[in-house]
Amino acid sequence: MKYALVTGGSRGIGRAICVKLAGMGYHILINFQSNVEEAEKTLELVKAKGVNGELMKFDVSRQEEVDGSLGKWMEANPDKPIEVLVNNAGIRKDNLLMWMSNKEWDTVMDIAVDGFFNVTRLIIKQMLYKKYGRVVNVVSLSGLKGLPGQTNYSASKAAVIGATKALSQEVGRRNITVNAVAPGFINTDMTKDMNEKDFKQLIPMSRFGTPEEVANVVGFLASDQATYVTGQVISVNGGLYS
Ligand code: NAP
Repeated sequence: MKYALVTGGSRGIGRAICVKLAGMGYHILINFQSNVEEAEKTLELVKAKGVNGELMKFDVSRQEEVDGSLGKWMEANPDKPIEVLVNNAGIRKDNLLMWMSNKEWDTVMDIAVDGFFNVTRLIIKQMLYKKYGRVVNVVSLSGLKGLPGQTNYSASKAAVIGATKALSQEVGRRNITVNAVAPGFINTDMTKDMNEKDFKQLIPMSRFGTPEEVANVVGFLASDQATYVTGQVISVNGGLYS
């Protein structure tokens, strides 16, 4: 029974990752924050791949919710180790720093950084015990390059990149890899306020990417094709940044 957990699996990139990992034979725990309808659609797509899935509602930034939901599930299912963790949940709250509110700063940081910590700390213990695991963190071009109007988002993704590199060195000996995938502009709800026409001249491949193009790289990192890849950040951005 191989299990994978994808945070923010109800929509966009997270949904495509759930479907990709389901196609690789993983049963999928689909985390989401509030959108049950979309999470159920992801569950149907997962089941269509011939594996099982379960919805798991919790806010990654709230430790008590993570412990109460994921922690309880792990306790109740010791025979179902989570081999693959994809920390994908994330939000944008763009503003220039001089006008940024505490809430805009805090929510973006809490979901990306505390979310990574709350979920990964629980699962890494089990991976260490099992001497196997794959952790993939979905970060962003913004965390590598910095984008104006996104000091909160850039800082949060850069923090997770640092955590990826540090954790990979803590757990490598136990056959656990920890990597990050850094998308550029991808067509999802998160970018629906951005006009692709206005941005595509900046992108060498002259278009936004698809969630599936990101999921393919996550699938590679989770697979046995990537056994010696760890501590890396792989960009999926149509050549936007190099
Ligand atoms: P999206 O379509 O807006 O989906 C966001 C997902 O995250 C949803 O499943 C949402 O759940 C979940 N989520 C949000 N806050 C959460 C919380 N506190 N706890 C648990 N789940 C939460 O976004 P996306 O474009 O697929 O983005 C996915 C990841 O890729 C994010 O980390 C984002 O920063 C990163 N990324 C995206 C792009 C892009 O161009 N789209 C580029 C670079 C990086 P509900 O459905 O319940 O709201």
